Amino acid sequence: MSSCNCIEFADLELLRKEISSRAKHTKQLISLLKHRCTDSSEEHWLLECESCSQYWQRSLAWNWGNIPYLFRVPPINDLEWADRPFVQPDELLIFLAVVGKFYREKCSVLGVSNCKIDDCDSPNVKFSTFCKRHHIEHLQANNLLPRFPIGRWFAPYEEANFRIPGLGEI
Ligand SMILES: [Zn+2]
Ligand SMILES: [Zn+2]
Repeated sequence: MSSCNCIEFADLELLRKEISSRAKHTKQLISLLKHRCTDSSEEHWLLECESCSQYWQRSLAWNWGNIPYLFRVPPINDLEWADRPFVQPDELLIFLAVVGKFYREKCSVLGVSNCKIDDCDSPNVKFSTFCKRHHIEHLQANNLLPRFPIGRWFAPYEEANFRIPGLGEI
């Protein structure tokens, strides 16, 4: 029997209320964990529960006013982790909410010509010179849409679900 309560804090679903609720419990939960490592940006910490050996990552939820929150992560070597922390559920959620919505609402009607990018044979989006994918990438490059989440992927989150060609199915 472990003496911690890690088990009560499941993997986060990508819902705003899940991040808010976890943030509320984070201070208390952190106080019971061993700090292993901080990344070079100082935003991310790797922690471990010495009772049950569960690893946790602490990150800041920018869209929630930069509040710290914790989420479960798989065990990992400190140096490997510091080089590339895990993707953050708050960023995944915002990416899906903003880019997914844009994809469904603004990229569903196609034009009559081809994307203007050389070697791209996809049809253009109506009122754009680019295809769906290049239209979104162009807006991301200009900071008009969130960029693809950066970090190390881990279950239950799957990189394939965040790729632009798949966003239409969300
Ligand atoms: Zn524990
Ligand atoms: Zn294209």
